[in-house]
Amino acid sequence: MDTIHALAAQLRRARRILVLTGAGISAESGIATFRDAQDSLWARFRPEDLATPEAFRRDPALVWRWYAWRRGQVAAAQPNAAHRALVELARRRDTVLVTQNVDDLHQRAGSVDAICLHGALMRTICSVTRLEIDADWLAANPGEPPRSPHHADGLARPGVVWFGENLPADALDRANAAATQCDVVLAIGTSALVYPAAGLPGLAQRHGAWFAEINPQPTPLTPAADLVVAQPAGLALPAALAAWEEA
Ligand code: NAD
Repeated sequence: MDTIHALAAQLRRARRILVLTGAGISAESGIATFRDAQDSLWARFRPEDLATPEAFRRDPALVWRWYAWRRGQVAAAQPNAAHRALVELARRRDTVLVTQNVDDLHQRAGSVDAICLHGALMRTICSVTRLEIDADWLAANPGEPPRSPHHADGLARPGVVWFGENLPADALDRANAAATQCDVVLAIGTSALVYPAAGLPGLAQRHGAWFAEINPQPTPLTPAADLVVAQPAGLALPAALAAWEEA
């Protein structure tokens, strides 16, 4: 059996599926993964050096501008066939979607209740209180970054989780619970270098789940996978759904 049919057969047999996605699932929508960003106008900065609380303290304008560039990319992008296939998968089987992505393409494709481990790029929060800052305030108080309405020392910052910051506890709890309850786990488009997200497939496997990775490149999770689909997600996922009846 080829890998697509093998994937389809497991998905069809599954009762509960956990899907973990990373930046790679949005690559076919034209949104740079951290690796692709090395080809962009931001190539001389390492994302790991911009997406941190220290970077924001050191140079808030630089970090704000980088996120403005990323927000522009996301606003111009559309969900792709892989995002849409996961909506269809959730119609066919009980599926929990956990994403490391901060773009909103899963939601715009129609996924409801996606668990966003790393926050949301399009949200803006106060750097001190973490309270949300609304669009009207931002429009009336331009700046790089604007100041915060919530605290005298606060600045506006993107509502994402930076390297070194804690993940939202409720999101992590829900993701861990889903990992212990699923019988199939998929890791799609993630380099599996960022924990705790990268630990979810292993947790699921320790609870008996079958694990498939969908990624054109190998990752640290590849040796542990029960099936490796070394193809772009936008090809592999629709193909697996199309093969459903034959599987
Ligand atoms: P990553 O950039 O480290 O890795 C991307 C992975 O996707 C790579 O392994 C690559 O081989 C794979 N890939 C590339 N094209 C693919 C395709 N068409 N189909 C399937 N896989 C493909 O991303 P990561 O693992 O998500 O982790 C890095 C961090 O980057 C996360 O914390 C995330 O929040 C952040 N990030 C998010 C976005 C976004 O929201 N779209 C973009 C860049 C970075």
